[in-house]
Amino acid sequence: MKKIPYGKQHISELDIQAVVSVLQNDFLTQGPKVKEFEEKFASYVGSKYAIAVSNGTAALHLSALALGVQKGSRVITSPITFAASANCVRFCGGIIEFADIDPNTLCLDINKVREKLEAAPKGTYQGIIPVDFAGYAINMEAFRELANEYGMWILEDSCHAPGGFFNSQNGDKQNCGNGKFADAAIFSFHPVKHIACGEGGMITTNDPAIYKKLLSLRSHGITKDPNELTKIDGGWYYEMHHLGYNYRMPDLLCALGISQLDYAEENLKKRKEIAGRYIQAFANLPITIPKSTFDLGHAFHLFVIQVNDRKALYDYLNTNGISPQIHYIPVHKQPYYESLYGEQSFQHAETYYESCLSIPMYPSLSVEDQEYVIAIINQFYKQSHE
Ligand SMILES: *Cc1c(COP(=O)(O)O)cnc(C)c1O
Repeated sequence: MKKIPYGKQHISELDIQAVVSVLQNDFLTQGPKVKEFEEKFASYVGSKYAIAVSNGTAALHLSALALGVQKGSRVITSPITFAASANCVRFCGGIIEFADIDPNTLCLDINKVREKLEAAPKGTYQGIIPVDFAGYAINMEAFRELANEYGMWILEDSCHAPGGFFNSQNGDKQNCGNGKFADAAIFSFHPVKHIACGEGGMITTNDPAIYKKLLSLRSHGITKDPNELTKIDGGWYYEMHHLGYNYRMPDLLCALGISQLDYAEENLKKRKEIAGRYIQAFANLPITIPKSTFDLGHAFHLFVIQVNDRKALYDYLNTNGISPQIHYIPVHKQPYYESLYGEQSFQHAETYYESCLSIPMYPSLSVEDQEYVIAIINQFYKQSHE
């Protein structure tokens, strides 16, 4: 029987060569490929700086630290995201609060965020972590205006949206993670993401002070820069100025990332074609396609559908060799967060969760396999009407 996952990586012969050639050279980690990947990624999204880290979660953690999250800091995020978007605030001892999603975009509803801000004394909240869910590029300009009003920072979780964009008021195309509106943005190179490195992550920013902090925190908070040292005992001398981590991304994996970036745009085009075929195929079925799916700047990390009989369809697809996924169980419903903050309710997030299903979406999904997925879904509805 076929085995079709909801997402998977594609590794080319060129990718393999790129990794092998690093293995034949001097550096496995902290070599020239790190900088090269960072520069290439920065130029892909249009940011001034990019800093490669060990994974997307590390990218969130370091960004939260660099933005100043500490014990008692209050930060707002979406309940419909991977847990790490919220956890990064907890890593630093901060308090994470959720605001409901907009059912059209499935992303943090800016009006709900505004209501929260208006209901509390100014200065209560330090930051916002909007998530470009499924690949939809949030209007970061609008969030910037709101954040400025309240003196807050923005950390954009762009894990789903490399290559995604929105148009700002002046009509310019604004790539996710370009550093124009958010203080920092983060990406992941987990195998199901657009650029697959096994493990890996990237932080982009246009702010030199944040960039400098991130560099230090990524590698133990240690510096050898003569301009920063308080004294110099000899050539070996270094100083640790902050409590940092080892969140480095190895040269080996950066080489894979560099190679993967070469066809990021081509893959994005394939994702869009796959989305187009699904949209057409489901026109006459009792399937709701979220409004954001039709946005031009959508990067289609996921293809989400909403259906009434979600569990039955999920099981039916699995029985037929297709493995859909649910993105996501609302984070505030996780036992960890319920034990921390008690039971909370965000109606749109919960209603969405009851109906959502992510069906296969990845560049190497063949037309034949996609047609099989579509046929099985049609068969499901035909059966349920018999
Ligand atoms: C994948 C993902 C992360 C975490 O990335 P890892 O590389 O797996 O640590 C964070 N946020 C979102 C929205 C993600 O999809």
